[in-house]
Amino acid sequence: MAEQPTSIDITSLVKRHGATLAVDHVSLTVQRGEFFSLLGPSGAGKSSVLRMIAGFEAPDEGTIRIEGRSMEGVPPNRRPVNLVFQSYALFPHLTVAENVSFGPRMQGVPQGEIASRVRASLDMVKLSSKEERLPSQLSGGEQQRVALARALVNRPAVLLLDEPLSALDQQLRQEMQVELKSIQERAGCTFVCVTHHQEEALTMSDRVAVMQQGRVLQIGCPQDVYESPNSIFVARFIGVSNELRGIVRRIEGKRAVLQAQDFPGEVQILLPDGTTLHEGNVATILLRPERLRLSTSAQSLSGEQSLAGSVEKVLYSGSDRRYLVRCGERLVWNVRVPNDESGRNGLQRGDAVHVRWQISDAVVLSE
Ligand code: ADP
Repeated sequence: MAEQPTSIDITSLVKRHGATLAVDHVSLTVQRGEFFSLLGPSGAGKSSVLRMIAGFEAPDEGTIRIEGRSMEGVPPNRRPVNLVFQSYALFPHLTVAENVSFGPRMQGVPQGEIASRVRASLDMVKLSSKEERLPSQLSGGEQQRVALARALVNRPAVLLLDEPLSALDQQLRQEMQVELKSIQERAGCTFVCVTHHQEEALTMSDRVAVMQQGRVLQIGCPQDVYESPNSIFVARFIGVSNELRGIVRRIEGKRAVLQAQDFPGEVQILLPDGTTLHEGNVATILLRPERLRLSTSAQSLSGEQSLAGSVEKVLYSGSDRRYLVRCGERLVWNVRVPNDESGRNGLQRGDAVHVRWQISDAVVLSE
């Protein structure tokens, strides 16, 4: 079988800043043409990894290979990468076209080639009609696209983006998430993006590496990290997660019966393939808000599990309603119901309800 073309290969990367272990043995591989995001809270080590790929910082340990070449000792300007800064760093007194042609001109690229490259990269970001404008005559999203064109004009194998959308307001940010992914597809090069914004990472990326305290906790496609988080940290960081922790009382074939900590009564869990739980183990089940349903009847269908509770709050958010349901003294679950359905069942604060889910929809983590 032919090997997948690898764009970036990072092995056991370590970076210390004094006593801080900013990057703690990170290994990952990015495929050519992939949109890959490093996602995690502030201080997780994402920018440190990006700066080491760019060559602005040297690793203390580990190796980085780009397009098959070791980057050890290779200065930033000799690497096949370009970094797009958060602030865009456009020259205010130069037009869009002049901003984009600045890099190739400095590198002594022939005039005729500069013109065709500038045209191609402005086409890629859909700014050809605004090439004579100054940055101050552009919107925030357009300035961002000039910054991208200015990087793409150098034809890097890898484009590095550090919180690329953080300067934009919410609506523009959402539009640019889609746009950035399209630009990446048109440019055909590898994008590595640092973000602390989970929705942004899920929308744009082919794969995501979730980082915390210098370590990579999970790497996967957006659906994998959202639907099959491998830890409570990942589950909580990527969206809202309802949790129920308890002790395994019995194993019955492919099911386990959990005595919940915060809820009187037993909860059945389906053991995912490869999971080995034993009596006495502590396990946590995780359920996403949209996997839950609410009903007023106590009757469960087969393959379903439920908790009884009462509606504490109803939060209307346009497309759906979020119900906060108190199921125990310390247990409030978040249930999301699309509005066409919630309009019909019309539950109110104080109503007694049953929160239901398919046993197979619960993610089981054991300690
Ligand atoms: P992120 O990009 O995920 O916010 P960083 O890579 O910027 O994380 O930082 C990781 C850790 O390293 C943090 O604890 C940060 O304070 C520390 N750090 C980063 N750069 C430096 C530096 N130049 N000097 C000292 N500490 C640093």
